[in-house]
Amino acid sequence: MPPATEPDSLSALEALRREVEACTLCDLHKTRTRAVFGEGDPRARLMFVGEAPGYHEDQQGRPFVGAAGKLLEELLGAIGLTREQVFIANVLKSRPPNNRDPQPGEIEACQPYLWRQIALIKPRVICTLGNFATKLLSGDPVTGITKVHGRPQRHELGGHVATLFPIFHPAAALYTPAMLTTLREDFARLPALLADESVAEAAPELAGAPADAQLTAPALPLTAAEPVVAPSAAELGPPPATEPVAAPSSAEQLGLF
Ligand code: URA
Repeated sequence: MPPATEPDSLSALEALRREVEACTLCDLHKTRTRAVFGEGDPRARLMFVGEAPGYHEDQQGRPFVGAAGKLLEELLGAIGLTREQVFIANVLKSRPPNNRDPQPGEIEACQPYLWRQIALIKPRVICTLGNFATKLLSGDPVTGITKVHGRPQRHELGGHVATLFPIFHPAAALYTPAMLTTLREDFARLPALLADESVAEAAPELAGAPADAQLTAPALPLTAAEPVVAPSAAELGPPPATEPVAAPSSAEQLGLF
């Protein structure tokens, strides 16, 4: 079959949006207000992948529109980009109740949508925000964001070779000044990664690869696995006052919202 033309991939992305908005593959569809497909430039060279919609995202059906989104926009502005110039998506398309961590079954059910988004958008750089997106897209469920942030990795994702660039989740950095400093430093490396022609040259289309295939082949070696280091609930501090949040329950609140 010939490769999809651009209009084909744009309409395929719209069809995928409708599929996600009607999805009932996991129980989260019962409690969500709106599914959050993701948004931005369908031909973006830079894609961000967060964890899951929070309260505001669930209400509006748009990704990163709360406090973390404001920070993401500020970080983008610092490298001369707007959110309209990138594509922003999440691992989960529906909000977990009370912003609890995504469950393995939910990630399993939802991940084909993300692979298909990547296959259609074909970004040059995929920036994973926090542990959940990083572990899923790197194919390494053990090594935490504290170890791998700021270290570009080459992967085949959705049948497309891209640079994976893990960084801290903006929601975590909101409450931890040291993490915010690191996040700003890591973010400042994005323009060089985007400009790296060797990435484009080394990223031939993989004709015939299934759009939702999870092909992960790190070209840069990962270092030895370490236990995940998540910020403590105390480090994260209270959630923004405007956002209704259920009583925090220790580990559940480590989902970086
Ligand atoms: N946090 C995420 O991971 N995704 C969003 O869309 C909002 C907050």
